[in-house]
Amino acid sequence: MFLKKYNVSIEVKTPFNIASGEADGYIHKRTVRLKGEPYIPGSTIKGKVRSNFYKLTLANHIDGMCDCPVCNIFGGQGYKPSRIYVDDFVLNDTAKDEGQCREKKAPVFIKVGNAIDRYKKTAKHEALFITEMVKPAVFTGTITVYFDEDTLRYKQDLELAIKMIDSVGNGRSRGYGRVKVYLEEVT
Ligand SMILES: [Zn+2]
Repeated sequence: MFLKKYNVSIEVKTPFNIASGEADGYIHKRTVRLKGEPYIPGSTIKGKVRSNFYKLTLANHIDGMCDCPVCNIFGGQGYKPSRIYVDDFVLNDTAKDEGQCREKKAPVFIKVGNAIDRYKKTAKHEALFITEMVKPAVFTGTITVYFDEDTLRYKQDLELAIKMIDSVGNGRSRGYGRVKVYLEEVT
């Protein structure tokens, strides 16, 4: 096994919402939180890395017992555990401190939109849709991969698959959740 560890920064450039599925109070769509702070779940990032990696390697993936590089790294059916561990990405501490010095600013804001009837293109004024959005910020976490002799040759593809992530959350087509990912190999 060859353990590789990466420090990863996700620079969020436009506001995002990763729906928590909870609607509480007057907010219809909360963003996910960890210990009260907005975050980007590791599972969200892992799913995107997997999908990018699959496109890059054009793996001959089959349903069921499969020996392709995607399954060998990300886990598959049968006893094939995941060899990649993706942390939850939390708000970068320094950025948070700066924010507090400036104006104790909250990392989120509220976006109010009309629920549009897509067919008639008319706004239903009585139906406001309220979304909690996370402000642009830097989120950090680590990604750890246990390569073996076979999967080690996909190391560069995997690194590229991480860097290729360009959005998180909902509303990508409307410009929300645009990100740039920075990767530093530490082990
Ligand atoms: Zn496979």
